[in-house]
Amino acid sequence: MRIRYLNCGTMFPRLAGAFAPCLDRSPAICMLVETDGRMVLVDTGFGTADMADTGRLGRGELLLNTRADPEQPALRQISRLGLDPADVSDIICTHLDRDHAGGLGDFPEARVHVLAAEREAALNPRSARERDRYRACHFAHGPKWVTHEAVSDERWFGMDCIRDVEGLPPGILLVPLRGHSRGQTGVAVDTGERWVLHCGDAYYVKEELRQRGKPSLGVRGFRRVAHVDFPAAMHCVGELRRIMREHFDEVTLIASHDQFEYRNLFGRPLD
Ligand SMILES: [Zn+2]
Repeated sequence: MRIRYLNCGTMFPRLAGAFAPCLDRSPAICMLVETDGRMVLVDTGFGTADMADTGRLGRGELLLNTRADPEQPALRQISRLGLDPADVSDIICTHLDRDHAGGLGDFPEARVHVLAAEREAALNPRSARERDRYRACHFAHGPKWVTHEAVSDERWFGMDCIRDVEGLPPGILLVPLRGHSRGQTGVAVDTGERWVLHCGDAYYVKEELRQRGKPSLGVRGFRRVAHVDFPAAMHCVGELRRIMREHFDEVTLIASHDQFEYRNLFGRPLD
């Protein structure tokens, strides 16, 4: 399976420069997986309607400070690659936050895979924060949801996973990474040479996984604010650290908002 990396949104989070400089600019890294004549998109980033009106993104946008760039949505980028967006048969959302699910409406015919707990959180938010992070406008077209819950007996590098995902090729697995939201999942793709695990927002910059100690105070503060279950989120960080340490020759980890990973993938700094 071939993976193309797309950046489907660029944010310049306010206050990050002072408290967590590594997050002062953030991409929204998505993966376009080409497999047997169709495409699977992992996260959508922001959509065309969001770029036309960032007011759709809610109060959180005051902090995220997203650049309105009509060329960044996945729909536009897939067309520019000479591919047909109608061939995106499936979208897997690591979670349904505004910066990961904003483009769902650009692919109304695609099946949308998420963990059941995440869809429940997005469609029935419990708190003011959930009502803001999940944008009802992103789901108003009635996505063709396919939800997943039960983990497989066979683990993936020691982690719980969901194999044989309905409608997806066998080389794509879901690896639940709860904590950031009620039902975030990682998405593992077997390229034939190695595995790539898209971790969503389970970590922000790879430096967090390399450090023996704790991430910087600013990043930890950001986690406290951004995660619904801090202990679960930190457990995920520990597991990803272990994967990186023990399986660096078999697994590549990608996170949505890592500007340094962006530089590696795209060969230029994020600007
Ligand atoms: Zn995010």
